Amino acid sequence: MENFENLIERILEKIREEIGENAFSTWFEKISIREDGENAIAVYVPNKFFGEWFSKNYLPILLKAFRDEVSTSPDVKILIEEGLEDTGEPEKVPLKKKQGICLNLIPKYTFENFVVGKSNEFPYSASFAVANDPGKVYNPLYIYGGVGLGKTHLLNAIGHRTRKLHPDLNIIYISAESFMNEFLKAIRMNTMEHFRKRYRQTFDVLLVDDVQFLSGNKESTQEEFFHTFNALFNLNKQIVLTSDRPPKDIEQLQERLRSRFEMGLVVEIKPPELETKVAILKKKAELYSISLPNEIAFYIAERIHSNVRELEGALLRIKAISALKNSPVTLELVKEALHGFIEERGAKISPERVLKEVSEAFKVKLSDLRSRRRFKQIALPRQVAMFIMRTYLGMSYPEIGLFFGGKDHTTVIHSVRKIEKEITKDIYLQEIVENLKKKLLIEM
Ligand code: ADP
Ligand code: MG
Repeated sequence: MENFENLIERILEKIREEIGENAFSTWFEKISIREDGENAIAVYVPNKFFGEWFSKNYLPILLKAFRDEVSTSPDVKILIEEGLEDTGEPEKVPLKKKQGICLNLIPKYTFENFVVGKSNEFPYSASFAVANDPGKVYNPLYIYGGVGLGKTHLLNAIGHRTRKLHPDLNIIYISAESFMNEFLKAIRMNTMEHFRKRYRQTFDVLLVDDVQFLSGNKESTQEEFFHTFNALFNLNKQIVLTSDRPPKDIEQLQERLRSRFEMGLVVEIKPPELETKVAILKKKAELYSISLPNEIAFYIAERIHSNVRELEGALLRIKAISALKNSPVTLELVKEALHGFIEERGAKISPERVLKEVSEAFKVKLSDLRSRRRFKQIALPRQVAMFIMRTYLGMSYPEIGLFFGGKDHTTVIHSVRKIEKEITKDIYLQEIVENLKKKLLIEM
Protein backbone atom coordinates (compact mmCIF):
# COMPACT_ATOMS: atom_id res chain seq x y z
CA MET A 1 0.00 0.00 0.00
CA GLU A 2 1.43 3.29 -0.97
CA ASN A 3 1.59 6.21 1.33
CA PHE A 4 -0.26 4.42 4.00
CA GLU A 5 -0.54 7.32 6.43
CA ASN A 6 -2.13 9.54 3.80
CA LEU A 7 -4.42 6.83 2.65
CA ILE A 8 -5.67 6.24 6.18
CA GLU A 9 -6.16 9.93 6.74
CA ARG A 10 -8.31 10.22 3.64
CA ILE A 11 -10.30 7.17 4.60
CA LEU A 12 -10.93 8.37 8.13
CA GLU A 13 -12.05 11.76 6.84
CA LYS A 14 -14.65 10.07 4.66
CA ILE A 15 -15.85 7.96 7.53
CA ARG A 16 -16.14 10.98 9.75
CA GLU A 17 -18.41 12.62 7.19
CA GLU A 18 -20.41 9.48 6.85
CA ILE A 19 -21.09 8.55 10.46
CA GLY A 20 -20.90 11.93 12.14
CA GLU A 21 -18.69 13.50 14.73
CA ASN A 22 -20.07 11.65 17.74
CA ALA A 23 -19.79 8.09 16.55
CA PHE A 24 -16.49 8.90 14.94
CA SER A 25 -14.87 10.13 18.10
CA THR A 26 -16.26 7.19 20.07
CA TRP A 27 -15.06 4.52 17.68
CA PHE A 28 -12.43 5.77 15.30
CA GLU A 29 -10.40 8.06 17.46
CA LYS A 30 -9.67 5.28 19.88
CA ILE A 31 -8.16 2.89 17.43
CA SER A 32 -4.88 2.81 15.65
CA ILE A 33 -4.71 1.45 12.13
CA ARG A 34 -1.39 0.20 10.92
CA GLU A 35 -0.05 -1.37 7.80
CA ASP A 36 0.54 -5.06 8.35
CA GLY A 37 2.24 -6.24 5.20
CA GLU A 38 1.06 -6.22 1.61
CA ASN A 39 -2.58 -5.23 1.43
CA ALA A 40 -3.18 -6.02 5.07
CA ILE A 41 -3.91 -3.88 8.06
CA ALA A 42 -3.93 -4.34 11.80
CA VAL A 43 -6.49 -2.43 13.78
CA TYR A 44 -5.43 -1.89 17.37
CA VAL A 45 -8.26 -1.45 19.82
CA PRO A 46 -8.19 -0.61 23.53
CA ASN A 47 -9.94 -3.75 24.81
CA LYS A 48 -11.82 -6.88 23.91
CA PHE A 49 -15.29 -5.50 24.27
CA PHE A 50 -14.42 -2.54 22.10
CA GLY A 51 -12.94 -4.91 19.52
CA GLU A 52 -16.03 -7.06 19.31
CA TRP A 53 -18.37 -4.15 18.97
CA PHE A 54 -16.14 -2.44 16.48
CA SER A 55 -15.81 -5.55 14.30
CA LYS A 56 -19.51 -5.99 14.15
CA ASN A 57 -20.62 -2.45 13.61
CA TYR A 58 -17.80 -0.38 12.23
CA LEU A 59 -15.39 -2.68 10.47
CA PRO A 60 -17.72 -3.00 7.47
CA ILE A 61 -17.72 0.77 7.16
CA LEU A 62 -13.95 0.87 7.34
CA LEU A 63 -13.60 -1.83 4.69
CA LYS A 64 -16.04 -0.15 2.40
CA ALA A 65 -14.09 3.09 2.70
CA PHE A 66 -10.95 1.16 1.78
CA ARG A 67 -12.62 -0.33 -1.26
CA ASP A 68 -13.77 3.10 -2.34
CA GLU A 69 -10.23 4.44 -2.10
CA VAL A 70 -8.06 1.62 -3.38
CA SER A 71 -10.61 -0.76 -4.89
CA THR A 72 -9.63 -3.75 -2.77
CA SER A 73 -10.31 -4.38 0.85
CA PRO A 74 -7.29 -5.36 2.89
CA ASP A 75 -6.98 -8.37 5.13
CA VAL A 76 -7.71 -7.28 8.64
CA LYS A 77 -6.48 -8.27 12.05
CA ILE A 78 -8.08 -6.80 15.13
CA LEU A 79 -5.61 -6.68 18.00
CA ILE A 80 -5.80 -5.43 21.52
CA GLU A 81 -3.17 -2.91 22.29
CA GLU A 82 -1.91 -2.72 25.81
CA GLY A 83 -1.66 0.82 26.98
CA LEU A 84 -4.48 1.93 24.74
CA GLU A 85 -6.97 1.15 27.51
CA ASP A 86 -9.59 3.79 27.87
CA THR A 87 -8.56 6.33 30.49
CA GLY A 88 -11.92 7.97 30.78
CA GLU A 89 -10.70 11.14 29.08
CA PRO A 90 -9.80 9.83 25.71
CA GLU A 91 -10.22 13.02 23.78
CA LYS A 92 -7.15 14.48 25.43
CA VAL A 93 -4.90 11.76 24.12
CA PRO A 94 -4.61 11.45 20.37
CA LEU A 95 -3.62 7.81 20.74
CA LYS A 96 -3.12 6.86 17.19
CA LYS A 97 -0.48 9.50 16.61
CA LYS A 98 1.82 8.35 19.39
CA GLN A 99 2.44 4.90 17.99
CA GLY A 100 5.19 4.25 15.54
CA ILE A 101 4.68 1.73 12.79
CA CYS A 102 5.99 -1.77 13.17
CA LEU A 103 6.13 -4.02 10.16
CA ASN A 104 6.40 -7.76 9.58
CA LEU A 105 7.53 -8.93 13.01
CA ILE A 106 6.85 -12.61 13.68
CA PRO A 107 4.90 -12.62 16.96
CA LYS A 108 6.33 -15.72 18.63
CA TYR A 109 9.99 -14.79 18.15
CA THR A 110 10.53 -12.86 21.36
CA PHE A 111 13.37 -12.69 23.87
CA GLU A 112 11.08 -14.39 26.37
CA ASN A 113 10.88 -17.41 24.06
CA PHE A 114 14.60 -17.46 23.36
CA VAL A 115 16.72 -19.81 25.39
CA VAL A 116 20.16 -18.51 26.25
CA GLY A 117 23.17 -20.78 26.54
CA LYS A 118 26.89 -20.61 25.91
CA SER A 119 26.48 -20.92 22.17
CA ASN A 120 24.33 -17.84 21.83
CA GLU A 121 24.82 -15.70 24.91
CA PHE A 122 26.98 -13.15 23.15
CA PRO A 123 24.61 -12.53 20.24
CA TYR A 124 21.77 -12.57 22.72
CA SER A 125 23.24 -9.88 24.99
CA ALA A 126 24.23 -7.74 22.05
CA SER A 127 20.70 -7.97 20.65
CA PHE A 128 19.21 -7.18 24.01
CA ALA A 129 21.42 -4.14 24.43
CA VAL A 130 20.49 -2.90 20.99
CA ALA A 131 16.78 -3.25 21.72
CA ASN A 132 17.18 -1.28 24.93
CA ASP A 133 18.97 1.61 23.25
CA PRO A 134 18.50 1.46 19.53
CA GLY A 135 21.06 3.45 17.59
CA LYS A 136 23.27 3.97 20.61
CA VAL A 137 25.34 0.89 21.32
CA TYR A 138 26.34 -1.26 18.39
CA ASN A 139 25.60 -0.04 14.93
CA PRO A 140 25.20 -2.01 12.84
CA LEU A 141 24.86 -5.21 14.77
CA TYR A 142 25.73 -8.10 12.49
CA ILE A 143 24.76 -11.62 13.60
CA TYR A 144 25.91 -14.63 11.64
CA GLY A 145 25.71 -18.38 11.97
CA GLY A 146 24.39 -21.59 10.41
CA VAL A 147 20.86 -22.51 9.42
CA GLY A 148 18.25 -22.82 12.14
CA LEU A 149 20.35 -21.43 14.96
CA GLY A 150 18.06 -18.56 15.88
CA LYS A 151 19.14 -15.57 13.80
CA THR A 152 15.67 -14.74 12.55
CA HIS A 153 14.36 -15.29 16.05
CA LEU A 154 16.82 -12.82 17.60
CA LEU A 155 16.21 -10.25 14.91
CA ASN A 156 12.49 -10.30 15.59
CA ALA A 157 13.06 -10.29 19.34
CA ILE A 158 14.95 -7.02 18.94
CA GLY A 159 11.95 -5.62 17.10
CA HIS A 160 9.48 -6.71 19.77
CA ARG A 161 11.48 -5.38 22.66
CA THR A 162 12.20 -2.08 20.94
CA ARG A 163 8.52 -1.75 20.26
CA LYS A 164 7.74 -2.35 23.91
CA LEU A 165 10.31 0.07 25.27
CA HIS A 166 10.08 2.68 22.54
CA PRO A 167 6.58 2.50 21.10
CA ASP A 168 7.03 5.72 19.17
CA LEU A 169 9.77 4.29 16.93
CA ASN A 170 9.18 2.98 13.43
CA ILE A 171 10.44 -0.55 13.06
CA ILE A 172 10.67 -2.87 10.09
CA TYR A 173 11.79 -6.46 9.73
CA ILE A 174 12.57 -7.47 6.16
CA SER A 175 14.62 -10.13 4.43
CA ALA A 176 17.30 -8.93 2.06
CA GLU A 177 15.45 -10.80 -0.64
CA SER A 178 12.19 -8.92 -0.07
CA PHE A 179 14.14 -5.70 0.02
CA MET A 180 15.49 -6.51 -3.41
CA ASN A 181 12.11 -7.50 -4.76
CA GLU A 182 10.52 -4.33 -3.51
CA PHE A 183 13.33 -2.35 -4.98
CA LEU A 184 13.01 -4.00 -8.39
CA LYS A 185 9.27 -3.52 -8.28
CA ALA A 186 9.72 0.15 -7.48
CA ILE A 187 11.93 0.49 -10.54
CA ARG A 188 9.37 -1.27 -12.70
CA MET A 189 6.45 0.70 -11.40
CA ASN A 190 8.30 3.95 -11.39
CA THR A 191 7.85 4.48 -7.68
CA MET A 192 11.47 4.87 -6.66
CA GLU A 193 10.81 8.12 -4.93
CA HIS A 194 8.33 6.48 -2.63
CA PHE A 195 10.62 3.52 -2.08
CA ARG A 196 13.53 5.74 -1.11
CA LYS A 197 11.46 7.84 1.17
CA ARG A 198 10.14 4.72 2.82
CA TYR A 199 13.50 3.12 3.44
CA ARG A 200 15.71 6.12 3.98
CA GLN A 201 13.42 8.36 5.98
CA THR A 202 10.78 6.32 7.74
CA PHE A 203 12.42 3.76 9.96
CA ASP A 204 14.28 4.13 13.22
CA VAL A 205 15.09 0.45 13.37
CA LEU A 206 15.87 -1.55 10.24
CA LEU A 207 16.15 -5.31 10.75
CA VAL A 208 17.44 -7.08 7.66
CA ASP A 209 17.55 -10.86 7.55
CA ASP A 210 19.91 -12.94 5.41
CA VAL A 211 22.05 -10.27 3.83
CA GLN A 212 24.19 -12.95 2.19
CA PHE A 213 21.43 -12.83 -0.38
CA LEU A 214 22.85 -9.56 -1.67
CA SER A 215 25.92 -11.40 -2.81
CA GLY A 216 26.12 -11.69 -6.53
CA ASN A 217 22.90 -9.82 -6.89
CA LYS A 218 22.50 -6.94 -9.22
CA GLU A 219 24.91 -4.13 -8.57
CA SER A 220 21.95 -1.81 -8.47
CA THR A 221 20.42 -3.64 -5.50
CA GLN A 222 23.66 -3.50 -3.55
CA GLU A 223 23.98 0.12 -4.50
CA GLU A 224 20.51 0.91 -3.24
CA PHE A 225 21.11 -1.02 -0.05
CA PHE A 226 24.34 0.86 0.48
CA HIS A 227 22.58 4.20 0.23
CA THR A 228 19.75 3.07 2.47
CA PHE A 229 22.31 1.92 4.99
CA ASN A 230 24.16 5.21 4.90
CA ALA A 231 21.08 7.34 5.11
CA LEU A 232 19.84 5.55 8.20
CA PHE A 233 23.26 5.22 9.74
CA ASN A 234 23.92 8.93 9.41
CA LEU A 235 20.67 9.65 11.18
CA ASN A 236 21.77 7.37 14.04
CA LYS A 237 19.09 4.85 13.22
CA GLN A 238 19.65 1.30 14.36
CA ILE A 239 20.53 -1.31 11.76
CA VAL A 240 20.71 -5.01 12.52
CA LEU A 241 21.77 -7.56 9.92
CA THR A 242 21.94 -11.32 9.88
CA SER A 243 23.73 -13.65 7.55
CA ASP A 244 24.84 -17.24 7.31
CA ARG A 245 28.48 -16.12 7.17
CA PRO A 246 30.71 -13.26 8.30
CA PRO A 247 31.00 -10.21 6.05
CA LYS A 248 34.43 -11.20 4.78
CA ASP A 249 33.05 -14.47 3.41
CA ILE A 250 30.23 -13.00 1.40
CA GLU A 251 31.55 -13.11 -2.11
CA GLN A 252 30.67 -10.64 -4.75
CA LEU A 253 29.78 -8.01 -2.26
CA GLN A 254 30.93 -4.48 -2.93
CA GLU A 255 33.87 -3.69 -0.74
CA ARG A 256 32.28 -0.57 0.66
CA LEU A 257 29.20 -2.52 1.71
CA ARG A 258 31.34 -5.15 3.37
CA SER A 259 33.23 -2.54 5.31
CA ARG A 260 29.92 -0.99 6.45
CA PHE A 261 28.80 -4.38 7.71
CA GLU A 262 31.97 -4.67 9.75
CA MET A 263 31.74 -1.21 11.21
CA GLY A 264 29.74 -2.05 14.31
CA LEU A 265 29.73 -5.35 16.15
CA VAL A 266 29.98 -8.70 14.36
CA VAL A 267 28.88 -11.69 16.45
CA GLU A 268 28.59 -15.37 15.73
CA ILE A 269 25.74 -17.57 16.88
CA LYS A 270 26.98 -21.12 17.32
CA PRO A 271 25.23 -24.48 17.37
CA PRO A 272 23.82 -25.14 20.83
CA GLU A 273 25.61 -27.49 23.17
CA LEU A 274 23.75 -30.29 24.91
CA GLU A 275 22.50 -28.31 27.92
CA THR A 276 21.16 -25.54 25.73
CA LYS A 277 19.45 -28.05 23.48
CA VAL A 278 17.74 -29.59 26.48
CA ALA A 279 16.68 -26.16 27.74
CA ILE A 280 15.32 -25.25 24.30
CA LEU A 281 13.37 -28.50 24.11
CA LYS A 282 11.83 -27.85 27.49
CA LYS A 283 10.92 -24.30 26.55
CA LYS A 284 9.34 -25.38 23.29
CA ALA A 285 7.53 -28.22 25.01
CA GLU A 286 6.05 -25.66 27.33
CA LEU A 287 5.02 -23.48 24.38
CA TYR A 288 3.36 -26.41 22.65
CA SER A 289 1.87 -27.74 25.90
CA ILE A 290 3.72 -31.03 25.77
CA SER A 291 4.76 -32.58 29.02
CA LEU A 292 8.33 -33.66 28.45
CA PRO A 293 10.29 -35.49 31.15
CA ASN A 294 13.94 -34.56 31.57
CA GLU A 295 15.40 -37.87 30.53
CA ILE A 296 13.44 -37.73 27.31
CA ALA A 297 14.60 -34.21 26.57
CA PHE A 298 18.15 -35.49 26.97
CA TYR A 299 17.47 -38.48 24.77
CA ILE A 300 16.31 -36.21 21.95
CA ALA A 301 19.00 -33.56 22.46
CA GLU A 302 21.73 -36.14 22.28
CA ARG A 303 20.50 -37.39 18.97
CA ILE A 304 19.80 -34.22 17.10
CA HIS A 305 22.96 -32.43 16.19
CA SER A 306 22.46 -29.98 13.46
CA ASN A 307 20.08 -27.25 14.48
CA VAL A 308 17.31 -25.91 16.61
CA ARG A 309 14.67 -26.03 13.94
CA GLU A 310 15.05 -29.79 13.95
CA LEU A 311 14.62 -30.00 17.67
CA GLU A 312 11.36 -28.26 17.14
CA GLY A 313 10.39 -30.57 14.30
CA ALA A 314 11.09 -33.59 16.47
CA LEU A 315 8.97 -32.19 19.23
CA LEU A 316 6.02 -31.55 16.95
CA ARG A 317 6.23 -35.08 15.67
CA ILE A 318 6.20 -36.39 19.19
CA LYS A 319 3.21 -34.26 20.00
CA ALA A 320 1.34 -35.52 16.95
CA ILE A 321 2.01 -39.16 17.70
CA SER A 322 1.16 -38.74 21.34
CA ALA A 323 -2.15 -37.15 20.38
CA LEU A 324 -2.85 -39.81 17.80
CA LYS A 325 -2.24 -42.60 20.27
CA ASN A 326 -3.72 -40.69 23.11
CA SER A 327 -0.71 -41.63 25.17
CA PRO A 328 1.71 -39.62 27.32
CA VAL A 329 5.23 -38.93 26.10
CA THR A 330 7.28 -41.96 27.05
CA LEU A 331 10.65 -43.06 25.79
CA GLU A 332 8.96 -45.80 23.73
CA LEU A 333 6.71 -43.30 22.09
CA VAL A 334 9.61 -40.96 21.37
CA LYS A 335 11.61 -43.73 19.78
CA GLU A 336 8.71 -44.58 17.59
CA ALA A 337 7.98 -40.99 16.71
CA LEU A 338 11.56 -40.27 15.80
CA HIS A 339 12.24 -43.47 13.98
CA GLY A 340 13.52 -42.47 10.60
CA PHE A 341 13.94 -38.95 11.80
CA ILE A 342 16.92 -39.47 14.00
CA GLU A 343 18.46 -42.79 13.11
CA GLU A 344 18.17 -42.69 9.38
CA ARG A 345 18.80 -39.02 9.03
CA GLY A 346 21.51 -38.56 11.52
CA ALA A 347 23.38 -41.77 11.16
CA LYS A 348 22.58 -43.41 7.89
CA ILE A 349 22.54 -40.72 5.26
CA SER A 350 26.03 -40.62 3.96
CA PRO A 351 27.30 -38.36 1.20
CA GLU A 352 27.80 -41.53 -0.86
CA ARG A 353 24.13 -42.29 -0.50
CA VAL A 354 23.24 -38.76 -1.62
CA LEU A 355 25.43 -39.15 -4.65
CA LYS A 356 23.81 -42.44 -5.54
CA GLU A 357 20.30 -41.01 -5.40
CA VAL A 358 21.34 -37.92 -7.33
CA SER A 359 22.95 -39.98 -10.05
CA GLU A 360 19.76 -42.01 -10.39
CA ALA A 361 17.52 -38.97 -10.38
CA PHE A 362 19.50 -37.28 -13.14
CA LYS A 363 20.45 -40.50 -14.90
CA VAL A 364 24.14 -39.77 -14.91
CA LYS A 365 27.04 -41.98 -13.91
CA LEU A 366 27.97 -41.98 -10.29
CA SER A 367 31.66 -42.02 -11.10
CA ASP A 368 31.27 -38.95 -13.31
CA LEU A 369 29.73 -36.99 -10.48
CA ARG A 370 32.72 -37.46 -8.31
CA SER A 371 35.32 -37.05 -10.97
CA ARG A 372 36.87 -33.72 -11.83
CA ARG A 373 35.24 -33.74 -15.20
CA ARG A 374 33.55 -30.59 -16.16
CA PHE A 375 31.11 -31.44 -18.90
CA LYS A 376 27.78 -29.82 -18.80
CA GLN A 377 25.37 -32.66 -18.11
CA ILE A 378 26.93 -33.36 -14.77
CA ALA A 379 27.35 -29.79 -13.57
CA LEU A 380 23.78 -29.45 -12.35
CA PRO A 381 23.51 -32.87 -10.65
CA ARG A 382 26.79 -32.21 -8.92
CA GLN A 383 25.59 -28.87 -7.67
CA VAL A 384 22.37 -30.42 -6.42
CA ALA A 385 24.35 -33.07 -4.54
CA MET A 386 26.46 -30.35 -2.93
CA PHE A 387 23.36 -28.42 -2.01
CA ILE A 388 21.81 -31.44 -0.31
CA MET A 389 24.98 -32.27 1.57
CA ARG A 390 25.27 -28.73 2.83
CA THR A 391 21.62 -28.09 3.61
CA TYR A 392 20.39 -31.43 4.89
CA LEU A 393 23.47 -33.29 6.01
CA GLY A 394 25.03 -30.22 7.54
CA MET A 395 28.44 -30.89 5.98
CA SER A 396 30.80 -27.93 5.84
CA TYR A 397 31.90 -26.42 2.54
CA PRO A 398 35.47 -27.67 2.84
CA GLU A 399 34.20 -31.16 3.74
CA ILE A 400 32.08 -31.23 0.64
CA GLY A 401 34.96 -29.93 -1.44
CA LEU A 402 37.10 -32.75 -0.15
CA PHE A 403 34.43 -35.29 -0.90
CA PHE A 404 34.35 -34.15 -4.50
CA GLY A 405 38.01 -34.81 -4.98
CA GLY A 406 39.44 -31.68 -3.44
CA LYS A 407 37.37 -28.94 -4.97
CA ASP A 408 37.93 -25.50 -3.56
CA HIS A 409 35.36 -24.53 -0.92
CA THR A 410 34.47 -21.37 -2.81
CA THR A 411 33.37 -23.54 -5.73
CA VAL A 412 31.15 -25.43 -3.34
CA ILE A 413 29.70 -22.22 -1.90
CA HIS A 414 29.00 -21.01 -5.39
CA SER A 415 27.22 -24.25 -6.30
CA VAL A 416 25.11 -24.33 -3.17
CA ARG A 417 24.07 -20.74 -3.60
CA LYS A 418 23.21 -21.28 -7.20
CA ILE A 419 20.83 -24.11 -6.38
CA GLU A 420 19.38 -22.15 -3.46
CA LYS A 421 18.49 -19.43 -5.89
CA GLU A 422 17.32 -21.55 -8.79
CA ILE A 423 15.13 -23.68 -6.62
CA THR A 424 12.94 -20.72 -5.84
CA LYS A 425 12.26 -20.24 -9.53
CA ASP A 426 12.60 -23.57 -11.25
CA ILE A 427 9.70 -25.91 -10.61
CA TYR A 428 11.40 -28.83 -12.26
CA LEU A 429 14.37 -28.49 -9.94
CA GLN A 430 12.09 -28.12 -6.96
CA GLU A 431 10.43 -31.37 -7.80
CA ILE A 432 13.69 -33.23 -8.22
CA VAL A 433 14.95 -32.02 -4.88
CA GLU A 434 11.66 -32.83 -3.17
CA ASN A 435 11.81 -36.37 -4.54
CA LEU A 436 15.39 -36.74 -3.45
CA LYS A 437 14.47 -35.61 0.03
CA LYS A 438 11.72 -38.20 0.14
CA LYS A 439 14.05 -40.93 -0.99
CA LEU A 440 16.63 -39.92 1.54
CA LEU A 441 13.97 -39.69 4.24
CA ILE A 442 14.76 -36.10 4.86
CA GLU A 443 11.81 -34.50 6.49
CA MET A 444 11.71 -30.80 6.81
P1 ADP B 1 17.92 -19.04 11.50
O1 ADP B 1 17.28 -17.74 11.13
O2 ADP B 1 19.24 -18.86 12.19
O3 ADP B 1 18.00 -20.01 10.38
P2 ADP B 1 15.59 -19.31 13.17
O4 ADP B 1 15.69 -18.05 13.95
O5 ADP B 1 14.59 -19.36 12.08
O6 ADP B 1 17.02 -19.73 12.61
O7 ADP B 1 15.36 -20.49 14.21
C1 ADP B 1 14.84 -21.75 13.83
C2 ADP B 1 13.88 -22.22 14.88
O8 ADP B 1 14.58 -22.51 16.06
C3 ADP B 1 12.86 -21.18 15.26
O9 ADP B 1 11.63 -21.82 15.49
C4 ADP B 1 13.38 -20.58 16.54
O10 ADP B 1 12.34 -20.15 17.38
C5 ADP B 1 14.11 -21.75 17.15
N1 ADP B 1 15.26 -21.32 17.96
C6 ADP B 1 16.53 -21.14 17.57
N2 ADP B 1 17.32 -20.81 18.59
C7 ADP B 1 16.54 -20.79 19.68
C8 ADP B 1 16.76 -20.53 21.07
N3 ADP B 1 17.97 -20.21 21.54
N4 ADP B 1 15.69 -20.61 21.91
C9 ADP B 1 14.49 -20.92 21.45
N5 ADP B 1 14.20 -21.18 20.17
C10 ADP B 1 15.21 -21.13 19.28
MG1 MG C 1 16.56 -17.13 9.29
